[in-house]
Amino acid sequence: MGIFLADRFRYFEAYAPGEQPRDRKYVKLNTNESPFPPAPGVARALAECAETLNLYPDPTYAALRGKLAALHGVTPDMVTVGCGSDEILDFIFRAFLSDRGAVFPDVTYGFYKVLAELYGIAYREIPLRDGFAVAPSDYAPTAPSGGNPAVVLAEPNAPTGIAAGEKAITEILEADPLRPVVIDEAYADFSGVSAVPLLGKHKNLIVVRTFSKSRSLAGGRVGYCVAFPEIIRDIDLIRFSTNPYNLSRAAVAAAEASLDDDGYFKECVETVVRTRDRFAADLRAIGFDLSDSSANFVFARCPEISGKRLAAVLRERGFLVRRFDGERIKDHLRITVGSRSDMAALFSELKNIAGK
Ligand SMILES: *Cc1c(COP(=O)(O)O)cnc(C)c1O
Repeated sequence: MGIFLADRFRYFEAYAPGEQPRDRKYVKLNTNESPFPPAPGVARALAECAETLNLYPDPTYAALRGKLAALHGVTPDMVTVGCGSDEILDFIFRAFLSDRGAVFPDVTYGFYKVLAELYGIAYREIPLRDGFAVAPSDYAPTAPSGGNPAVVLAEPNAPTGIAAGEKAITEILEADPLRPVVIDEAYADFSGVSAVPLLGKHKNLIVVRTFSKSRSLAGGRVGYCVAFPEIIRDIDLIRFSTNPYNLSRAAVAAAEASLDDDGYFKECVETVVRTRDRFAADLRAIGFDLSDSSANFVFARCPEISGKRLAAVLRERGFLVRRFDGERIKDHLRITVGSRSDMAALFSELKNIAGK
């Protein structure tokens, strides 16, 4: 720590992203990236875009917003864009959660807690029920309408892969129509269900989405938000006040080219879903314990081997997976669904290690 760091950061713990090692070649199944390259049109779009990099991008991102609005059947004033959905979450926490605070599950995306601490936002972690289930009654308001903390949920949840379902989300939205409900849909393309249609009835809904997982663009850094126009305007207030050019021209070109190739997108998602279901069934057959995943990863535990040991052995054998320290999940591994051949190779290692 240097001598200039502000006091409030002296004990601050940064978010720890999954590692991106360079020491050897691993089968990388630790950060939920896509095993497939971006749509073929992305490379062409990037080449064309190179010549325009002397110019700033359009700070309203009108073309990309238009395409995203069409994708979701909303108007362009209901969409704004971020440098990854992490930046959208950052904007949302700053814009809406500072005074009212936030609640989110005890087992969820670690970034929510880090953002809350970064901005001094009061937060409460609500324990998931048995089987890592979200019980809507646990999010029942305690203050008069409007005075309640915002609810932040990943749907499907990470790292569990479990979807709470539309009924649960509707119940949480309706419980207090004057509190924001942020639904992080990083993995929703793999469940095939989005909360966006609920915007028809619920003005307090804020949906966060990303190109990182299902569109093979984690390195492109493109996320976006779908919400009511007044909410989008408030997010843009923060966006314009921090970095009005938050998406590079290259990121925009890649995102637009990806949206233009719906066939490729669907094929990649379908392949991941089929591979996931096959891998999950295989793991169950050799005695692993796992929940039904609606995402592009599985969250699994081997009853006979600790998570720490299993992750270490896999690493020695060239497979990177993600493990977390929390008491409830320390023996689980979050395993990204990679290519069919990578999953077949991983399964035969796991079978071997588990002695089956
Ligand atoms: C991966 C992930 C994100 C962030 O993705 P970006 O690359 O910043 O778009 C957000 N939320 C959840 C739950 C994630 O798993």
